[in-house]
Parts: sequence; C-alpha cells; structure tokens
Amino acid sequence: MERIYLSSPHMGGAELKYIQEAFDTNWIAPVGPHLTGFEKDLTSYVGVDHAAALSSGTAAIHLALIILGVGAGDEVICSSFTFAGSCNPIVYQGATPVFVDSEADTWNMDPDLLKEAITDRIKKGKKPKAIILVHLYGMPAKVDEIMQIAREFEIAVIEDAAEALGSMYKGKKMGAFGDFGILSFNGNKIITTSGGGALLSNNKEAIERARFLSTQARDQAPHYEHTTIGYNYRLSNISAGIGRGQMEILDDRVAGKRNIYDRYRKQLSQIDCIKFIDEPNDTFSNRWLTTVLIQENNKKINKDHVRIALEKENIESRPLWKPMHMQPVFNGVPSYISGVSERLFHEGLCLPSGTNMLEDDHTRVIELVSHLF
Ligand SMILES: *Cc1c(COP(=O)(O)O)cnc(C)c1O
Repeated sequence: MERIYLSSPHMGGAELKYIQEAFDTNWIAPVGPHLTGFEKDLTSYVGVDHAAALSSGTAAIHLALIILGVGAGDEVICSSFTFAGSCNPIVYQGATPVFVDSEADTWNMDPDLLKEAITDRIKKGKKPKAIILVHLYGMPAKVDEIMQIAREFEIAVIEDAAEALGSMYKGKKMGAFGDFGILSFNGNKIITTSGGGALLSNNKEAIERARFLSTQARDQAPHYEHTTIGYNYRLSNISAGIGRGQMEILDDRVAGKRNIYDRYRKQLSQIDCIKFIDEPNDTFSNRWLTTVLIQENNKKINKDHVRIALEKENIESRPLWKPMHMQPVFNGVPSYISGVSERLFHEGLCLPSGTNMLEDDHTRVIELVSHLF
C-alpha cells in the first residue's frame, strides 16, 4: 500500500515556469525579481502593506523580536500550545518565554489567562515586551479579546500565522492583526517554497529593517561596512519563484483542506467518542490539518491506538503539538496553565490532510478509523 502522508507538498504547475524564468535571467541568489513579486503577492493576499520574504517562519519571529527591541533579561509571552519554532527565537535573544495556556473553543491563547499572566508579571516587576499569538492548525485565536488586552497594556503582538495562511477573522486574513504577522512556507504547510517564511507589517521602516538584518546588515558603502549584527535570513529568488506559483493556487488549497475536514466530519462524527473542533462565529479556518479528539470510550481505544493502527496500514498521523510548558527544554519557565492544552495533547490526533490525497486514500483512512470503533 502506498504511504498516505499527513500533509505533503502539493505543487500547482506554474512553479516550474517561475524557476525556469529565474534560471533564464540568472537570478540564482537571495535577491531578484521573484522575491519582490512574491512579497507583493503576500501583501495583497493577506491585506498588509509590507512583507519581507525570509528563509523560515522561525527567522521571521526572530527578526520581529529584534526589531521590537527584545533582549537579554526581557520576558515575552507565547502560546504554550504550539510548535517550538514559535518560542525558540525568544531564547535566541537571551529573553525568557512566559507560556499561556489555551481556551477550549479555538485551542488558542486564553484571553483571561493572558490578562492574569500580564498582571502577575508586572506585579513581579517585569512587563512583558511582546506577545506571540499562535493560530494553531489554521484556527484563528480570539483576536478581538487578545488585541484589546495587548492595547490596554501597550504590549506589541506578533501573530504567528505559520499554520493559518488563508484563515480569516471577521473577514480579515490572519497575519494582518498584530504589529507583526509571520508566515511559514515549510514543506508541510498549506503552501510551500520547500523552506521559507515571511514577516508582515503595516510598518514600512520595520520591514525595511527586516530586509537589512536578513542580509547581514550591510551599511551603504562600496566595501562591506557593518554597524550592527546581521543574519543570513533572506529567501532565495528560486524559492520565491516556487512561492509565486503556489500563491496562484492558495485558495484552491484552502478549499481542498476544508473539503477534507468536512468529509472526515461527515463520516466519523457518528462515532460518539470522536470530537471535532467547530469554527466559532466570525472565523474561517483554512483547516490546515484535520484534528480530532479521541475521548474515553468503552472500547478503551485511545489516540495512540488509532495512530498505531493507521501506521500499520502505512498511513501517517500525529499527536497534537506537545505544549511548550510540558517540554523538558522549557522546564521551570513561568507558565499560566489551566490544563486545557494538556488534555488536548492527551486526546488529540492529526489525521492525513494532504490536498493531493486521492479520494480513495481518504476513504481508506476513514474506513480504518470507523472499523476500529
Ligand atoms: C511551522 C511553524 C513555525 C516555524 O516555521 P518554519 O518555517 O518551520 O521555521 C512557527 N510556528 C508554527 C505554529 C509553525 O507551525
């Protein structure tokens, strides 16, 4: 049986044309017309004024923190229920992450806990420098509530929309709400450049600064002159070409992901112990990965049993992200915890959600899970 992957790259066709163009014009470097074109595609799609195409989403978060002036001894609040790429850059800067747990509706940062965390950190003598707000699995967080708290305390927000390109909150695309938005084009994301990311903002100087820092912070001079530390974080013109091709079919991919989710839900929701996450009012999820919770049942089947049974049939599935406050590397980091993300981690599973999965393959997964129960 052919392996069914969780979410594998899905090219649209135009990518090779853009790559060919880069070869024909010899723009084989982290500079060139596709970079500018890809940045333009991103700003008009998301609805922000400026974008810098970078080598990864993690690099985009790192540059956002640098531009916000986060340094040694500072504290930065971050969703606990996320991938490590969201919070590792806090540590690159010598700052301390402060983790905030999820609420049950969207699985994202709990606004009440956020407020509690900010108040408590201020009481302990340190106001957090920034908030990294994640929209996990494409589901928009409670943006209005979170942005209101951030404004009340005058703390900058970096929206981690790595998994949420194409998702919307009140008709506006994710990545356009915070002081910064970040995207990822890693191989498993909704669109890919094989590896890459972007930093988004309405602040022109900030994005110019990001481009400067991402190309080794070279000052204006005929020789190489440096007055600040730089990074090699720019996306290549070839990768940007792939990105331009992928942007042409992004809305098809969103529709494809949502179809996959609908099909799983229709066929599996008769099984009492399998729970799906709803879209709250005013939100539109790209459904990057279909996630389910496998709750206690009289067959004593848990999420690991399902995962192992799928693996036996050469089908890839994966537990939900292990919360950052439970990670050994972040042992002892200040955390504001309700138990929600821990429960989600224990019950949750990501099902194969690749838009290039054949309908028969999808049926194979659904029948296998149904059969187990
Ligand atoms: C993928 C991802 C990132 C990091 O993106 P890379 O491009 O892999 O560095 C950050 N946050 C979340 C939530 C992600 O899923």
